[in-house]
Amino acid sequence: MKKIAVFCIPAHGHTNPMLAVVRELARRGDEVRFYSFSAFQEKIERTGVTFVSCDKYLPELNAKEAEKLKKVSTTEMTIQDIRITAAMDAFMHDEFTAFKPDVVYTDSVCFWGKLNAWKYDVPMVVSTSTFAFNQMSSSYMKNTPKEIAGLILGLPRISKALNELKTYGYKVKGLFALIQSDNQTDSVVYTSKRFQPYSESFSDHYIFVGPSLLTDIRPNKSHERPLVYISLGTVINDRPDFYGKCIEALKGENMDVIISCGESVDRSSLGALPKNISVYTCVDQLDVLSKADVFITHCGMNSVSESLYMATPMVLYAQTNEQEAVARRVREMGAGIDLKDDSVAGIRDAVRQILNTPSYQKSAQACCDDFRQCPGAKGAADFIETAPHNSDGIDIISDLKKANVGLQVGYSLFTVLLASILFRFVPIKYLWIYIVLSIILSMPINKLLQKAAYKRLARTKLHQK
Ligand code: UDP
Repeated sequence: MKKIAVFCIPAHGHTNPMLAVVRELARRGDEVRFYSFSAFQEKIERTGVTFVSCDKYLPELNAKEAEKLKKVSTTEMTIQDIRITAAMDAFMHDEFTAFKPDVVYTDSVCFWGKLNAWKYDVPMVVSTSTFAFNQMSSSYMKNTPKEIAGLILGLPRISKALNELKTYGYKVKGLFALIQSDNQTDSVVYTSKRFQPYSESFSDHYIFVGPSLLTDIRPNKSHERPLVYISLGTVINDRPDFYGKCIEALKGENMDVIISCGESVDRSSLGALPKNISVYTCVDQLDVLSKADVFITHCGMNSVSESLYMATPMVLYAQTNEQEAVARRVREMGAGIDLKDDSVAGIRDAVRQILNTPSYQKSAQACCDDFRQCPGAKGAADFIETAPHNSDGIDIISDLKKANVGLQVGYSLFTVLLASILFRFVPIKYLWIYIVLSIILSMPINKLLQKAAYKRLARTKLHQK
């Protein structure tokens, strides 16, 4: 029997995949203390583990901070993570001293879980609620210039707050060391190797367990007419305009429609509903998806995993860059299409296209079969109980970093050599144009070279295995 301390940020999308795992740990007789917040108490206690409330350590937010958090600002979320860690310090000291956990199982962006595991030197397993992102797979995340600017402008604030954490004795190596997936940290990822982009770049410290769900339901699509399910998740779902357009688009169609609109939307503001459409604040999503033929989704990792687990193809309406990464993978699998035009006609066309093209359902079924062959919550529980883990020593990313240094030096030498030849024939006053061009071109060229180097390293890895 193991003593396991579990930590997660206050978010359904991060908490949900951990639930089936902690239920399995409790079933085996492990002593599990789940540090979370009152909004999640009921569902955590239903798994049979001990819920420990951390509500009093949530900071009071001013209106500006609350607004930024609502908009999922990375800087604001990071600052709040740091504030909670600092506020919990004495409490965590008492808990780690009294409970003496054998393992910490913590969400990947839950700073107080990770930092306390390091501080008290307890083996740690990270729970990755989205894809695992490293140097290669992060190419799926396209940050807008506004987001990049926001991150850069927020860095001094974040670094100041992180430095303050050091005074509590936390081993803070920097923001990226705290949030990035690295090949030395034991990590559980709730998708399959097939669905995870660049899965071969992750070391044996990773286990891809497939969707971790509290359900035994299997897909059952046998009903008289198609069922369309619509949800924008639990965070950025205050979109009465969008639900209104969906209602307009699908009213009177030969299909049933279920909309889950979340708590922020006043259902009466959507007007009188047509006979074929029902709107709820919250539904049993897995149950609905098991019967649904199309899912219009915001592409949260959980929603997409659940949809594929229930063999439901999707209309993809990503709202953030992380969701766009998930949407891209669904497109690559052939299990969904983008909602490029979110007008009434655009929504209707997209739903019809999914319903009238059998290949989308077939691809979703292939993902369903793949997910159901994964080790699941039982595999994750085995992995947590037996942490820390060893790797076979193959680390493509570390080899890639070394190769990158060589590539960059090679590129610089090449540009100097080329300049020394070129400017024998071209007037030297044009040198600045050459320098600017070489800097601009260095990004895409390095990217191409890196991809080629990665392919070579991945082939070698497969050969060695
Ligand atoms: N969910 C639910 N009922 C609903 C809407 C959502 O149970 O009516 C659950 C859904 O099953 C999923 C989670 O909320 O597990 C949403 O997580 P996701 O990662 O998809 O999106 P987020 O809410 O984090 O944006």
